Amino acid sequence: MQDIFSDKIIIKRTKRKKTIAIKIEGKNIIVLSPKLVSERYLKTILEKKKDWIKNKLEEESLKNTIKKRSFLDGEKFLKFGKTKKLIYKKSSLNQVVETNNFIKVFCASEKDIKTHLETWYKETLNYYIKEKLEFFKSLMNVEYKGFKIKLYKNRLGSCSYKGSLTFNWKIAMMPHEIINYILIHELSHLKHFNHSKSFWENVKKFCPDYKEKKNWIKANKNLISW
Ligand SMILES: [Zn+2]
Repeated sequence: MQDIFSDKIIIKRTKRKKTIAIKIEGKNIIVLSPKLVSERYLKTILEKKKDWIKNKLEEESLKNTIKKRSFLDGEKFLKFGKTKKLIYKKSSLNQVVETNNFIKVFCASEKDIKTHLETWYKETLNYYIKEKLEFFKSLMNVEYKGFKIKLYKNRLGSCSYKGSLTFNWKIAMMPHEIINYILIHELSHLKHFNHSKSFWENVKKFCPDYKEKKNWIKANKNLISW
């Protein structure tokens, strides 16, 4: 509890007589508390409410990022973990061209930039995943039945009972090593259809620092908001 939230907690002593209130403001957890309540007791309360707090904080950070996205010329976007500047070129080409530092969108109207970008992310991810899945499949000695790319609100990937894989197109914004972890994770489900100890052992075999990857995903979720 302390580890995750401690730097975000602000305790405000108020004239309240009995009740303790928790609210989320931006990145901070504000605790309104009567003067005589011990800090230790407040921590117990926070511990009990940690899931609610976590959700609220995630929501809040997502909201802030979305607010900042305008899908206009000059805005920065991530592609495989690298920040690139969006350049808009008025044109009838309907095309996205990527260079080292730029993502150039050629289309007739600025309001179509978002759609073109999304299609482009999906296509590039599809290309990358296709090749990587073939590689990991033989390395891990598993067989999958095709894959597709779609929009998930909260998941990064999934594996069905029948062995078909689905990936969130937004992982195209994440670094390669994170995408690879996601692929290994889903492919491991072909052997263990759960998150058991043996499942994680299998993941570890092919991605020894998977815990770091998981933490990265947790900490950087807001980066891929759209
Ligand atoms: Zn899983």
